[in-house]
Amino acid sequence: MTDLQTDRSRSDPLMDTASAAYRAALEVIGTVEPRIVDAIRAELADQRGSLKLIASENYASPAVLLTMGTWLSDKYAEGTIGHRFYAGCQNVDTVESVAAEHARELFGTEYAYVQPHSGIDANLVAFWAILSARVESPALERLGAKTVNDLSEADWEELRAEFGKQRMLGMSLDAGGHLTHGFRPNISGKMFHQRSYGTDPETGLLDYDRVAAAAREFKPLILIAGYSAYPRRIDFARMREIADEVGATLMVDMAHFAGLVAGKVFTGDEDPVPHAHVVTTTTHKSLRGPRGGLVLAKPEFAEAVDRGCPMVLGGPLSHIMAAKAVALAEARRPEFSTYAESVAANAKALAEGLLRRGARLVTGGTDNHIVLLDVSPFGLTGRQAEGALLDSGVVTNRNSVPADPNGAWYTSGIRLGSPALTTRGFGADDFDRVAELIIGVVSQTQPGTAKSGKPSKATYELADGVADKTKAGAAELLDAHPLYPGLDVS
Ligand code: PLP
Repeated sequence: MTDLQTDRSRSDPLMDTASAAYRAALEVIGTVEPRIVDAIRAELADQRGSLKLIASENYASPAVLLTMGTWLSDKYAEGTIGHRFYAGCQNVDTVESVAAEHARELFGTEYAYVQPHSGIDANLVAFWAILSARVESPALERLGAKTVNDLSEADWEELRAEFGKQRMLGMSLDAGGHLTHGFRPNISGKMFHQRSYGTDPETGLLDYDRVAAAAREFKPLILIAGYSAYPRRIDFARMREIADEVGATLMVDMAHFAGLVAGKVFTGDEDPVPHAHVVTTTTHKSLRGPRGGLVLAKPEFAEAVDRGCPMVLGGPLSHIMAAKAVALAEARRPEFSTYAESVAANAKALAEGLLRRGARLVTGGTDNHIVLLDVSPFGLTGRQAEGALLDSGVVTNRNSVPADPNGAWYTSGIRLGSPALTTRGFGADDFDRVAELIIGVVSQTQPGTAKSGKPSKATYELADGVADKTKAGAAELLDAHPLYPGLDVS
């Protein structure tokens, strides 16, 4: 299927074929549950008609989307390639092998595991594999046992106690880390003793000396790098040095920026793959694949990761692994590098457009795909800004800023991302116009009043006519860059 970004043709024969395929599929589905057909059609209209700036979302190609709707879904295939707990898995073996081969080639790694159902699942597999390789295996050797089943009750209790002592050091949530990086309400914060590293309070930037100091003091088993809302690149070579100094395993969660790694925008010290022991990712954000996850690992962790299913994961989703194979094949094409370069250039154009119009950005800008706009100078919470923008056809999400006085629910920030609109073909000038629209909305929104008469952190009042004017401006941009041009499912 043609690349979404470069395809402008409304008479693309492949889009005509996709249109026919979708129309047929919707007709078949409609014979069972027409409301689902209505929701599918409405979602396409919504996606086509809004400025999607959610940094974690994208638009997968019709080839990726179509791959998900097949009978591969019907096969159980617990285990790994050639080593399944079910009979008749030869075609799933092919699918998983092709997906893993593309992942290895794309990211330049010796081992890839393509089964995780999502990013969180990929992280669970990674934690489990690191515990298995770094804690369980040496303990079994010491106790003269082959597997945990050979342990006496007393030895088993000792091993469980050892698991309970392990530590994880990850980026704090308000600095941009993810809740699976040891945040207490998450299972990771319960499995591990956890400590966070933040960012410099003045600059908002990661301070490697502080990370090193925290690692020396805390001596974690796992040092996690990676983020959901940090608008800068990371020096993974430096992170590996820190991990090595304290004997930690470096795990990088590149869920957000995998597309920039795949597209060779992040290379050398900014590419986590050569430096980390274990790398996890989602496949549906900047990588533009189906919803899912991947684990890439150094060979010493491969055996443990391979046991992810059924030890941590439910049965593999063969139809999704097939779609991962298609998406990874797309990401190996030269046009994907062009896309990834545009993602970074467009985020910069958006940041510059906001700064030029007087906005305050966390870290003062971006050098990845994320821009974090601090809306407190406009007298708004993130929740209020998110609502006002949504009413104006601009889809974003609220996000904490470092040391956020409004907490994780109301927040003071808005996270913006360039991957989705770049897939539609938006360029730097378009992103500058997006910046203008955003500033137009947040500068003409007032905080509302709660029922108690006190200022509200949730409600807001948008000045008359702003929402309609912004929607009209957005529509001009969206019409110039149609989503799935030529795809007609009416
Ligand atoms: N890791 C990071 C850094 C993320 O940003 C996210 C999603 O937002 C995840 C993991 C979880 O991914 P998923 O929603 O696929 O489980």
